[in-house]
Amino acid sequence: MKPLWKVDQDAPHGTPFDPGAQHDVLIVGAGLTGLSTAVLLTRAGLDVVVVDAGDVAELSTGGNTGKLSLLQGQQLATIRRHHPAALVQAYVDANRAGMEWLTGFADSAGLSYTERTDHTYAQGPDGLEAVRAQHSAAREAGLPTRLLTAGELSTPFPVAGAVALDSQVTIDPVAVADALAKEFLAGGGTLHTGVRVTGAHALPEPRVETTAGPMFAEHIVLATGTPILDRGLYFSKVAGMRSYCVSFRVSGGVPEGTFISADGPTRSIRPVSAADGPADTAQLVVGGNGHPVGRSDGETAAIDDLVDWTRLHFPDAEETHRWSAQDYQSHNLIPFVGALPRGLGRIRIATGYAKWGLSNAPAAALRLTEEIIGTKRRERPSWMLRLGTRLTVPADLARGAVEGAKVAAAATKGWVEAETTPVPVPQPAEGEGVVANRGGRPVAISTVDGVTRAVSAVCTHLGGVLDWNDAECTWDCPLHASRFAADGTRIEGPALNDLPEVPRTVGGS
Ligand SMILES: Cc1cc2nc3c(=O)[nH]c(=O)nc-3n(C[C@H](O)[C@H](O)[C@H](O)COP(=O)(O)OP(=O)(O)OC[C@H]3O[C@@H](n4cnc5c(N)ncnc54)[C@H](O)[C@@H]3O)c2cc1C
Repeated sequence: MKPLWKVDQDAPHGTPFDPGAQHDVLIVGAGLTGLSTAVLLTRAGLDVVVVDAGDVAELSTGGNTGKLSLLQGQQLATIRRHHPAALVQAYVDANRAGMEWLTGFADSAGLSYTERTDHTYAQGPDGLEAVRAQHSAAREAGLPTRLLTAGELSTPFPVAGAVALDSQVTIDPVAVADALAKEFLAGGGTLHTGVRVTGAHALPEPRVETTAGPMFAEHIVLATGTPILDRGLYFSKVAGMRSYCVSFRVSGGVPEGTFISADGPTRSIRPVSAADGPADTAQLVVGGNGHPVGRSDGETAAIDDLVDWTRLHFPDAEETHRWSAQDYQSHNLIPFVGALPRGLGRIRIATGYAKWGLSNAPAAALRLTEEIIGTKRRERPSWMLRLGTRLTVPADLARGAVEGAKVAAAATKGWVEAETTPVPVPQPAEGEGVVANRGGRPVAISTVDGVTRAVSAVCTHLGGVLDWNDAECTWDCPLHASRFAADGTRIEGPALNDLPEVPRTVGGS
């Protein structure tokens, strides 16, 4: 499934890998975090290399909705419910800095975008409390939000009320990533695509292992979504959330503003124009129906539901593209940015943007850059210091414990279910996958593009039993959100290795 933004992607190509090369900074990941950090460090005169297992904007950056907003759904109210107002203020200030940096970059790169009013809206009366809470948290943080009644909004879909923030932005996220990569290369940076990093070490000298050989650097930044190192146990401090988008060609007009619902099921509405996307192919993106990675029984059904909803409210909507992606939500509600424990200040991470990475990623990049070039702490903006020294409150621990219990339940469920389906099993139909038990080991059997394959169904990260994703035709881990292609190739998440192939045992063979 290809995101709308990637239809005519103009990403620069990487250069051939140079095993053993030494750079000042090595960044793993060519998404928004990695590329904006790379641009900032290159502008500061450092020799930077970016290595990505895929291409520019391969994962979340390539699959997002393109809303650059400080309103951010219910994010501010959610943080405020458990943290002091000063932390929400620091979060907003960080995101404002990230937003200003990104729009400034777009201006300098000649990328267009559209200013729009963003809304967090209630679909029914049950959502109004959340809308008011978001308004209150946003106001407290100095954002000029307005409460709107249903009568003040004329939308084709049901709205019971909304909080609105003017002058937010929609932008083509892949065009941003491509332009970042181009500036990075023009500034003397090095980009290697199609090279997976399989390990990173601070001692005896900072280095990474890759599928193409080792590389060395003074500093390493893991801009890989969830960190690919288990050190610091960040995989257990974030939850991987998968979500869906569909784009449509609509002849009857679309709303001017952007919308995301406060009450479920989540509906995210984003108009597309020539200034903020490839508008000759679509004018509307509808997103939502998110769930923890690997814990859904119907990914295709989730997308079909978005299509049904859109056709109900935009009867002339004609689907052009459908896609899905995942992002990570920190149990602390604030992104994790900075040095990895026991990384000797040489290995840094940035994760946990909770699907608001267009501003959180550049904010993280600004912070990582200050740390790497060694700006004095007192010269850094106050939001950097405030976010860097926040305390974990009991609610954060409780949130982590709840997720930990769900992970444990998913771990048990996967192994129990695998046991009840002994091989041989009927050959899965095209686009389907099944986990079966062979001699006590779960085997993942699927048929994609006419090829039936069997790989181990045990995640190479921490041994979770994988779940078939019928929309992407991938094996997804319900524990910590690693994903693998049908042939076992690792796609994303904390897992570093592919799933081993196992002999087929289907159709009575
Ligand atoms: C459906 C959806 C909609 C969203 N909509 C919005 C929105 O409207 N507005 C907004 O602000 N945010 C949105 N987001 C969030 C936003 O997309 C992300 O927060 C942001 O793109 C994260 O960027 P990143 O660079 O940290 O990660 P990614 O873009 O995921 O980049 C990580 C990179 O690391 C590479 N990588 C991973 N492991 C390795 C390895 N071992 N070796 C080498 N490379 C590796 C990957 O290939 C990838 O390119 C959305 C997210 C989703 C899922």
